Amino acid sequence: ELKEGVINSVRSDVRNITTNKIRAVDMEFRKIDGLLRLTLGEPDFNAPELVKKAMIKSIEDNESHYSTARGSIEFLKAAADFLKRNYDLNYDPRTEILSTVGSTEAIFSSLSTILEEGDELLAPSPAYPLYEQLAHVNHTKMVYIPTNDTNFVLTPSKLQNAIEQHPRAKAIVLTYPNNPTGVDYSVEQLKELATVIAKTNLLVVSDEIYSTLNYVGKHVSIASLLPEQTIVLNGVSKSHAMTGDRIGFVAAPRDLISQIVKIHQFAITAVSNPAMAGAVAALNQGDALTEKMRQEYMKRRNYLIPEFKKIGFDVAAPDGAFYLFLKIPADQNQDDFAFARELAHKALVGLIPGSCFGPGGEGYLRLSYAASEETLHEALRRLQNYLA
Ligand code: PLP
Repeated sequence: ELKEGVINSVRSDVRNITTNKIRAVDMEFRKIDGLLRLTLGEPDFNAPELVKKAMIKSIEDNESHYSTARGSIEFLKAAADFLKRNYDLNYDPRTEILSTVGSTEAIFSSLSTILEEGDELLAPSPAYPLYEQLAHVNHTKMVYIPTNDTNFVLTPSKLQNAIEQHPRAKAIVLTYPNNPTGVDYSVEQLKELATVIAKTNLLVVSDEIYSTLNYVGKHVSIASLLPEQTIVLNGVSKSHAMTGDRIGFVAAPRDLISQIVKIHQFAITAVSNPAMAGAVAALNQGDALTEKMRQEYMKRRNYLIPEFKKIGFDVAAPDGAFYLFLKIPADQNQDDFAFARELAHKALVGLIPGSCFGPGGEGYLRLSYAASEETLHEALRRLQNYLA
């Protein structure tokens, strides 16, 4: 028990911010007996054997000492090679890459390096909620650009308008493939956005954690078009089923990395050596697992889309990631939180209310298809029965 009044020692803006809304809903639904959880973005695969062996070797080699702040050179090289091999990006491992505790810390350290009181942060909405929470603790205003009327795609004119209306905007966060909508951008679309941004001093915080999961073409990074203004964030959580190992990275021009590394060092000193060793193996030798998962998720996606349409949900085919963003049927007449709770309690299917992703997510539910085919099949059966 805290002494009366002591809670007031906690920063009021921290006290007033809600914890991760997605996790809060998941925790609430976990208590429901027999619920099928299609809530979290957690790959239902395990890390490959070669990753486990590399981690064990690191432990046996007594790598229990501090790494350098930026990370082991093997890791930095593996991350730079991954970006070169897959997205033709050129980063110097020694000066332009930073290891982080998951891409979460990459987002935290990058945004905390950029944002200060009075700034604004742009993002197309719906958006992954962490950006707004970090804007808040950095005394920055989150400015959402609605995309509901353009199939969740940020268009150059919308971006241009937002920039004109928000001269205090320091950066824009782009997440592609997107969580929750699954939208990825083609090189043509990115070129148009890059042309608008190039005329400004805006930084692009490019969250590409789902880059290996594209089902319609090849993922392109905006950093290939706008290297001087882009901070690329990625990691092995989704690409190699290593969410719990907590390894991500930032790639950016050296003068940005040398600033971001300060916040990283203040917050965590350095990341874990065995986890980095596992990530080196994953990035250098794990392409087969990545491709296997992509194929499997694509199969599930292709199965689910027509099935959900049949039972009355309007849903766009996602380009990438592993979510369906389901429009709640008009005859339901209730908000997405109420409908998600109803489906959880009565149909025993756990989905995330779209409002967790900001104002642009209202009226939607997010389904994670990082779940077995049997689970997805059963979830569909339950929803179909319940809605009938
Ligand atoms: N960025 C987005 C868009 C995500 O959806 C997630 C996780 O769901 C993360 C970042 C965090 O990933 P990590 O496990 O690498 O911290």
